[in-house]
Amino acid sequence: MRSTLKNIALLALAAALPAIALADDPVRDPDAAMYPEDVRYDSRIPTPEAFLGRPLGAAPVRHHELVEYITTVAELSDRLTVEIIGYTHERRPILFVVASSAENQARIDDIKYQHVALTEPDNQQEVLPDMPVVTWLNYGVHGAESSGMDASLPTVYYLAAAQGEKVNELLSNSVILVTAVFNPDGHANRIAWLDTFGSKVVNADPNNIEHDYDGRLARTNHYGFDLNRQWISATQPEPRAWMKKWHEWRPNVSVDYHEMGSQQTYYFAPGVASRTHPLIPDEGMQLVAEVVQPAEAFMDSEARLYFHGDRYDHFFLGKGSSFALVNGGIGILHEASSARGIELETVNGIRTYRENIRKHFRTSIANAQGALNNRHRLLDYQRAFYDSASADARNHSVKAYVFAAPGDEARLYHFVDLLNFHRIKVYGLQQDITQGGITYRAGEALIMPMDQPQHRLIRSLFDTMTEFEDSKFYDTSTWTLPLSFGVEYTALSGRRLNANLVGQEVSLEMPVADPPDAPRYSYVFEWSNYYAPRAMNRLLTADVLARVAANPFVAQTTRGPYSFNRGSIIVSFDRQEVSRSEIREIMNDIAKQDGIFVHSVTSGRSATGTAGPDLGSQFFRPVTKPEILLVVGRDMDWYNAGEIWHLLDQRMDMQVTMRDRSRLDGVDLNRYTHLVFAGGDFDEYAPAYAGNIRAWVDGGGTVIGIRQGAKWLRENVLDYVEPVMVDGKPVAADAASESGHELLPDELAEVERLSYDQKQARDPIDLIGGAIFSGDLDISHPLGFGYSRREIALLKNTKDVLERPMNPYATVIAYATPPLLSGYASDANQELLEGTAALIADRKGKGSVILFADDPNFRAIWYGTNKLFLNALFFSKAFDALAKE
Ligand SMILES: [Zn+2]
Repeated sequence: MRSTLKNIALLALAAALPAIALADDPVRDPDAAMYPEDVRYDSRIPTPEAFLGRPLGAAPVRHHELVEYITTVAELSDRLTVEIIGYTHERRPILFVVASSAENQARIDDIKYQHVALTEPDNQQEVLPDMPVVTWLNYGVHGAESSGMDASLPTVYYLAAAQGEKVNELLSNSVILVTAVFNPDGHANRIAWLDTFGSKVVNADPNNIEHDYDGRLARTNHYGFDLNRQWISATQPEPRAWMKKWHEWRPNVSVDYHEMGSQQTYYFAPGVASRTHPLIPDEGMQLVAEVVQPAEAFMDSEARLYFHGDRYDHFFLGKGSSFALVNGGIGILHEASSARGIELETVNGIRTYRENIRKHFRTSIANAQGALNNRHRLLDYQRAFYDSASADARNHSVKAYVFAAPGDEARLYHFVDLLNFHRIKVYGLQQDITQGGITYRAGEALIMPMDQPQHRLIRSLFDTMTEFEDSKFYDTSTWTLPLSFGVEYTALSGRRLNANLVGQEVSLEMPVADPPDAPRYSYVFEWSNYYAPRAMNRLLTADVLARVAANPFVAQTTRGPYSFNRGSIIVSFDRQEVSRSEIREIMNDIAKQDGIFVHSVTSGRSATGTAGPDLGSQFFRPVTKPEILLVVGRDMDWYNAGEIWHLLDQRMDMQVTMRDRSRLDGVDLNRYTHLVFAGGDFDEYAPAYAGNIRAWVDGGGTVIGIRQGAKWLRENVLDYVEPVMVDGKPVAADAASESGHELLPDELAEVERLSYDQKQARDPIDLIGGAIFSGDLDISHPLGFGYSRREIALLKNTKDVLERPMNPYATVIAYATPPLLSGYASDANQELLEGTAALIADRKGKGSVILFADDPNFRAIWYGTNKLFLNALFFSKAFDALAKE
């Protein structure tokens, strides 16, 4: 009752005055005055309360309310402009507000130009006395953490309506950029739950369904991507929109607002000092500590608990609080202890939603003030950061990178597009160069000199790192971009770089191939292109018969004899039910939309005479259209599943059926050719229908497992042995399982004894937080089709190890010795991994079992390993079982 009455009181007050004073003591009443009382407010600007018809925190703000409020305020105020900078997957607009004094708004383009010129040393732009500092406030990258989104309303209100000397000083000397909601889809999902289960009588009971929400769906965007891991990779439309603006403005201070677990207090930067990325300058971290001082002062003035230097770090550079720090600015993360719904009982007492909105709002204003207090230092620091890039480049041993993706222009395009997106310049290679046994050809390979303003950012994307000060990571310990894209690349030292190598600057377009010649006999295209699976799916969806070449072959084409690699796709006219003109149209689409050159073959006979296979030989296997059932749900890893959905739906235009794991019983598996279990929690998973899955595989189905899913399928399908029945009861052949392993007396003596204060530092040592390993890929195996080199980089973020199976042909990828390419893994883990399987493909009955130790689709940025997964869909029957002796 207490809360309900209070909310009614708030509602009554909301209509009356913009500044609500509820209690004398803000410590005891967390719902104290929302707005600073040391300024006056322009009565022409509606408060959020007046606009919404309820107090902030009484119910969460819906996305359309946020859009309407901000648009209304921007129309009424000469201090604010608002722009729609993009749309989400679910078609919601993403708003971008620019706030500054009316005088600054009148010359905002000049201000922006001069500011960005500080980051372009060629312009020799000086820091001018009246140059505003640029502060970026962003809310809601994790949609579930919705108090941040609500805090954007009072922030925008304050920027538009507050009056007086202090505010004039702030707005005359700052440009404040507000991205009101980074992740509208996740946020909308969250609010739908809260509104669905919110009661009139506020309920703080943690057991209430309102508070017991599977936040993963709302933390992430439509396809399950954590958008605060996207600052580098920018594979999703939301970060694509706001990162474009970020680079357009190059803010000095970037702040992002979050919620963390309910039993904490309040965090803000700086994070754990020993986990700061070595490319972040010390002065950047000093500035973080200074800019947050007004936020500290605010928290202190109300005697509120907060902490720095724990839990969160500045290591992974693909998140908001770190990315800015390798781009001449500073990043500040804020985390409020979540109230889940409107109120929640916690170990620290009742936590309210309104209280979190208020803290985020008030520290937003405090951080803008902190940026203002350090205006000259921040601007000088930014200028010096970019000005020193050339000197840094001179002192760095690597002078340039050369890279290429032979046979795959599309992958190279995506790679260069991302570098260009981050304002990194790439040039054509003018002369062939051979290094590390690979020849990079002029006209095909590209070169990226290190002496350019984004020197530090390039290093953060290309450096490999295997030595670390700390062994604990809040996120993955490495993200070496050329490894994730699987491009061939090499670093040039000073001796090897000369001006003759560097050609014209390039910005690639998505490749388009010429339409194919009219064929007399058949069409053939190679599998090396990133979009070859999409092309294949076009054909199979139209019921065109297609075959895959299990061996290399040479065919006579309209443009002469051509050597085709394994995995090439042949579409002949033999037995087609689809007309030649229809096939021709699909081939034109493949050339135009997938960027794949389609060859026109003139004869079925090998161009080598009798030495090579003819097109009708047994080495050309028919391919059937995959019908995919992807297992999802609460017990599955939503990131892994979302990555697969995104890859198939967005990039490959392929249909995928998703079903909750708890709802698989009774599903007729015969509708599907492929069943996919990605990572997840499999500890208690022992479904009654496991036998159906085994029978379906025996009958011809393909089951694919990734990470924990692979481990489960190994035990329950591939290596499963029917228990021996005695008197109708199963008798286990060997009861000692790995997990049931008990220490023998002589092993007990060897167990190390440790003091408890070492626990936190040692806890993660055995975990792999995300590191890149080298594998040896069998490129003669159908799962290796499309690859031309045996060495492959793999992202691993579990400790699970797949032992190699008995079938000597079934280990498609084995980890190299030593395996680590970049990132942190303990010596013990590295040894454990050496020579084990990273990818297993084996036949079972008429079906197949394909097991990935790691996630080949990680964060949609592992372009280099996506094809392994797609091969598992198209070629799972293109290899044979081990011959019986
Ligand atoms: Zn968050």
